[in-house]
Amino acid sequence: MKITDVEVICLRVPGLNKKSVWGEDAVLVKVYTDEGIVGIGETDSSPLVVKSLIETPNSNLACFGLKEILIGENPLEIEKLWDKMYTYSNYVGRRGAGIHAISAIDIALWDIAGKYHGKPVYELLGGKFRDKIRAYGTFIPADTPEENRKIVRELINKGFTSLKFGGGILGDAPESDYEIIKAVREEAGENFQLQIDLAAKWRTPEHTIFMAEKLKEFNLNWIEEPIGSDDLVGYRKLGDSIKPMIAGGETLTTRYEFQNFLEVGKPDLVQPDVTRCGGISESMKIYKLSETYGTKLVPHGFSTGVLIAATVHFLAVCENTDLIEYSQSTSPLYEKLVKNKIEFKDGYVEVPNTPGLGIELDEDIIKKYRVFN
Ligand SMILES: [Mg+2]
Repeated sequence: MKITDVEVICLRVPGLNKKSVWGEDAVLVKVYTDEGIVGIGETDSSPLVVKSLIETPNSNLACFGLKEILIGENPLEIEKLWDKMYTYSNYVGRRGAGIHAISAIDIALWDIAGKYHGKPVYELLGGKFRDKIRAYGTFIPADTPEENRKIVRELINKGFTSLKFGGGILGDAPESDYEIIKAVREEAGENFQLQIDLAAKWRTPEHTIFMAEKLKEFNLNWIEEPIGSDDLVGYRKLGDSIKPMIAGGETLTTRYEFQNFLEVGKPDLVQPDVTRCGGISESMKIYKLSETYGTKLVPHGFSTGVLIAATVHFLAVCENTDLIEYSQSTSPLYEKLVKNKIEFKDGYVEVPNTPGLGIELDEDIIKKYRVFN
């Protein structure tokens, strides 16, 4: 079997001249083969940047577009192709968007392998430890306590036993942070599992320690990315100073960045995004690495049903994991792009048994929101 083409599909719900928020754009890849098998992948990144990294013609030995590296290759040689893509895109890649693009292709290659062998991806990865995974719901908080109470009530009625919120005005000011978290905690009840995501808006470890003290009564399970992801010394200070677990890593790519994070920052849990950190292949390496540090892994994931499927297959084979992020976005790219999206039910998502990732795209949704053709 040989790879014949790589198609990059950029999707965007608002117009090109309008602002997009989380979940409103997406970039997919389809990897085509001469045996008619097509693999689907995605990265949660900047779509046009990813498209360029895949489609650009080479400039020199260390500046190849990923597509020209792949054409004519055997898609089942996933590890070899990952290394080739990494090496020959080195000047423009190596970290960041270059690895995001590789992630999308890696996921598509695993989808091809599963379809070729007639097996679900988890089986090719070594075998699943579980048939279902507990899911926590992520929502972007509204500005008022009343609205947030309403959101929380609805999510608990849907069956969630764990929730995270971040974005919106969370992180802007100590008083509004306190009020939002108070409302959510009161509505959810004393023993409900709650975590918050600051998207680095608390800026410094000193402010984070101050806020953790102020929020002590709300018994948060973890505090995510309170400070910038390059402030590794700051992360280490926090781990030594505050009670809730410190989580981070959604912006990091490759085992190399995670090794540094684990070694210097000493977080309580790492959150690689399978569509950004280097795909399913690299996620497996990051999981093994985090195990050697005795650090828990709870992946980041807030994009389409392609991301959910890739994350579910990955998590199914990791023995020491028990939680998946489940977006509460209302974007049509989230709700409709994958026709048979893995759905949340009674606190869990089920691991599918169909070949490959087990997903089918809605081509009408692609037609409707496709940009940059
Ligand atoms: Mg986050």
